[in-house]
Amino acid sequence: MAFEIIKKQDKQVFDAISGEMKRQQEGMELIASENYVSKAVLEALGSVFTNKYSEGYPGKRYYGGQQYTDVIESLAIERAKKLFGAEHVNVQPHSGAPANMIAYNAILKPGDTVLGMDLSHGGHLTHGHPLTLSAQIYNFIGYKTGKDGLIDYKELEKMAIKHKPKLILAGFSAYTRQVDYKKFAAIAKKVGAISMFDIAHIAGLIAGKAIENPVPFFDIVTTTTHKTLRGPRGGMIMCKAEFAKAIDKSAFPGFQGGPHMNNIAAKAIAFGEALKPAFKVYAKQVIKNAKILEKELTKRGYKIMFGGTDYHMVLIDVMGSKEVTGKEAERALDEAGITVNKNMIPDDPRSPMDPSGIRVGVQAITSRGMKEKEIKMIVEWIDAIITAHNDKKTLAEIKKDVTKFCKRFPIYPKV
Ligand SMILES: *Cc1c(COP(=O)(O)O)cnc(C)c1O
Repeated sequence: MAFEIIKKQDKQVFDAISGEMKRQQEGMELIASENYVSKAVLEALGSVFTNKYSEGYPGKRYYGGQQYTDVIESLAIERAKKLFGAEHVNVQPHSGAPANMIAYNAILKPGDTVLGMDLSHGGHLTHGHPLTLSAQIYNFIGYKTGKDGLIDYKELEKMAIKHKPKLILAGFSAYTRQVDYKKFAAIAKKVGAISMFDIAHIAGLIAGKAIENPVPFFDIVTTTTHKTLRGPRGGMIMCKAEFAKAIDKSAFPGFQGGPHMNNIAAKAIAFGEALKPAFKVYAKQVIKNAKILEKELTKRGYKIMFGGTDYHMVLIDVMGSKEVTGKEAERALDEAGITVNKNMIPDDPRSPMDPSGIRVGVQAITSRGMKEKEIKMIVEWIDAIITAHNDKKTLAEIKKDVTKFCKRFPIYPKV
């Protein structure tokens, strides 16, 4: 990964790539939605498949010259089917948000009602936030977590009976507890709704068999491929056979044009990696690391939302625990070389731009080989940084230690 040609041809872009490489290498990445792909995935992304138009699906394309695109897309589909036990897979969605739009468009009509989780309770923007296009087209109603921090299934059932949604959505970007798949499916069945699970965050944990696979329980499952699944930036839709045609038509020509075949090649490679035994070890270690993170933070007086985590991340109420806002905590951590994101907590009294919480994930640092000992060190730093959030000198000192520490865990050995 020397980027020799770019270096000769375009110094400005080269400098930015080199800068980003150094930033990723020397920084502590704790954003819960990021990861480090393999060199093989990077190579596929930079392959000649980026030159090719291949509108349609394997064996049914609009243009000629598809001998190899068909091979690649079929491989990606077959591997995804094996990983998740899905009846049908579409690997063309450009990312997670379009995957959700494609799924909605496949099964809903404008004005149809959808039950999705409230954003501040851990849901995602694409599940009905008023600023999204989907919220202008469909009638989203948000369900919430109960007092115990878990999804309130009784209330969800009541809401489903009352609002008669066409679709009930599970899937979250900050909720951290195992979902009761059977209950979700049963509620959807009771009111005649389609059930959908957006597993964007936890796809890798499922693929690595560290948590139970929801695919058999839901009509439709959407995901990103670049979070815990550790593939290229992209989306994917899995569904029961009865929805296959509608999903495929909705992806193309309904919503997208030509698939990004270089990306699909990289998805095939990432799925191949996820099928190997080493990925199971990775997924288990991610959850182990998250549990240690939860325990160490709790020991130091940090309040973890939803009563803890079953996944790769925790949502911390820094305002409620230490009287530091999420924005302030994010800034101070950033200054000390640790990247997290500020995040709303359930029914947050503060604003989205300056909420009460931060979200911290361990899936990226686990890819770098960090384990229990390292997580303990990181929590010590987080606590020291939040405590000294206004003290520039302390933050600068910690940054030096963090940088030195990170250099011991190369993201791409020998680059
Ligand atoms: C990240 C995420 C998405 C959006 O994915 P993009 O690739 O950023 O478009 C959708 N749903 C959930 C639950 C997510 O976490």
